[in-house]
Amino acid sequence: MVPKAAPIFVVSAPSGTGKTTLNTMLIKRYPHVRFSVSLTTRPKRPNEKDGADYYFVSKEEFQKRIDAGEMLEWANVFGNLYGTSQHELERISEAGSKVIVEIDVQGWQKAQPKLPQATSIFVLPPTLQALWTRLEGRGTDSLEVRWRRLLTARKEIESGHLYQFFIVNDIIDTAYQELEHIVVNDKPGSKGPQEGMRLCEALLQEFESAVWLKDLRQKFGESFTNRQDL
Ligand code: ADP
Ligand code: 5GP
Repeated sequence: MVPKAAPIFVVSAPSGTGKTTLNTMLIKRYPHVRFSVSLTTRPKRPNEKDGADYYFVSKEEFQKRIDAGEMLEWANVFGNLYGTSQHELERISEAGSKVIVEIDVQGWQKAQPKLPQATSIFVLPPTLQALWTRLEGRGTDSLEVRWRRLLTARKEIESGHLYQFFIVNDIIDTAYQELEHIVVNDKPGSKGPQEGMRLCEALLQEFESAVWLKDLRQKFGESFTNRQDL
């Protein structure tokens, strides 16, 4: 079991909101805060390092870890397996570090019962339109993939009740300070479940009523596609 006292912070956000940007700022500044490194069966990319970006393992090895009950959660994404290992959290927390687990909403849903002591944080975009602009600015996805990411974001925002604290990533420095406040200072976030649900509702409302979404809706439809296919 993960030690009860291990400070674990689960950070989720709809893709493109800025969670990696925020977490990386924190980790660069505070060496005692570390990312939990996930396992994956996908091939290593040229710029990646084993043990830093992921632990790259074979399908057989991954399956062994599942069978041994070692995985807190795992998912098939784009045909490859990805997951968070309980041993990794133990390794980091036993070394005296605070652990950031960057995980998607589905992953947190699965891992939550096994990590009752974790502090959960949901990072939200200020508006859906801002999220759209960030996805566009990142320049990694086609229009259709961005639309499907937005549909996924809606589904994730509908699960906002799974989180304790909410951070709106509007001005990056303000969002960063809030994350630092929770993780480094061990303080409660300024936005708890009640305010968080209000923010989620406002984003969902924007999804229903925004005029700029009309063309996309007509062009690609609204049937939800699993993130495996993104
Ligand atoms: P995620 O990890 O949540 O998918 P990223 O950290 O990759 O998101 O950020 C998505 C894009 O948005 C990046 O291009 C990043 O530079 C940009 N970004 C992050 N935070 C902000 C912000 N507060 N204002 C404007 N752009 C931002
Ligand atoms: P990539 O191959 O681009 O690094 O990541 C692809 C996807 O895998 C991303 O959407 C990322 O969130 C997801 N992913 C990475 N690590 C994990 C993990 O430990 N668990 C789960 N469920 N998904 C992960």
